[in-house]
Amino acid sequence: MKTTGEFFRLPFCLLPTPLYRLANISKVLGKNIYIKRDDLTGIALGGNKVRKLEFLLAEAKAKGAGYVITTGGAQSNHAMLTAACAGRAGLKSILVLKQRGVCERKGNLLLDDLLGAEVRFLDTESYDDIYSEMERITEELSKKGHKAYRIPVGGSTALGTLGYVNCAGEIAGQAKAMHINFDHIICAVGSGGTQAGLAIGARLYMPQTKVTGISADNQPFGKIVPQLMRQTAELLNYREPVRNRDISLKYMVGEGYAVPSREGNEAIRLMAEQEGIFLDPVYTGKAFAGLIELCKTGYFGENDNILFLHSGGASSLFAY
Ligand SMILES: *Cc1c(COP(=O)(O)O)cnc(C)c1O
Repeated sequence: MKTTGEFFRLPFCLLPTPLYRLANISKVLGKNIYIKRDDLTGIALGGNKVRKLEFLLAEAKAKGAGYVITTGGAQSNHAMLTAACAGRAGLKSILVLKQRGVCERKGNLLLDDLLGAEVRFLDTESYDDIYSEMERITEELSKKGHKAYRIPVGGSTALGTLGYVNCAGEIAGQAKAMHINFDHIICAVGSGGTQAGLAIGARLYMPQTKVTGISADNQPFGKIVPQLMRQTAELLNYREPVRNRDISLKYMVGEGYAVPSREGNEAIRLMAEQEGIFLDPVYTGKAFAGLIELCKTGYFGENDNILFLHSGGASSLFAY
């Protein structure tokens, strides 16, 4: 088997990100809740995509690209962080965003502008349309002698997913130093790479830990995440079979992707008031609302240690 260390990586992150017990939240919920602060990954306003971009942009540089093209919703954290990391790596970025949701120069769109990214909107529901447009732009650049590297939505390729295999190793090391074991890791799910990487990494570094994804989008993640796990395992030459039941999922979408929900907003307030930490309305607020529900439904054992992955996103608070 290969290790993630055998793949090129640009060091954008300040690692390890903090991991600690949420004393007030633990009291309120009557459980042992810890947080992994991947909202503090160390570039722009932080977030989970940076761990993926370390691997993806290393590949872009190795292939001699001068441009990176990616996509997402109008308020995409991934697109914003791609622009930030691309700038650091000396690459130009083009963001082909879905013209859906908050499209004014607020939240992440303001940051995209400050980061010098070129933003192009496409009025479509479908990422297939966006990917065709991204290919067209690549050809256009190629005619002018420029090479572009394309990153699909959320950076959730097998290579990007290695970032969260690594994160699981980092968590295992921090848990060991604190003399605890985590029974559960809870993370938000949007394109699947974070959960897929954590699930592979948990198998490798903490096989007693169960990874539960809380979905903020109505996609068939029960298939998408295991498939991404299989592709990532293949990239690592890791031979253990991956089955669909190797992951747990709970849907907390509410009215729709990127539509704030009542439960999510309450979770944002609770975390802000009790711990001084900002969650976001698209992913982590809904994910923490999911964790609260799992506490109520007896999903966790009485003395379980539960780790919530804060994957970032608070920059979109200023758009909603
Ligand atoms: C993208 C994103 C997620 C979801 O991660 P995936 O790897 O795409 O599933 C969760 N939280 C935030 C803040 C994000 O930006």
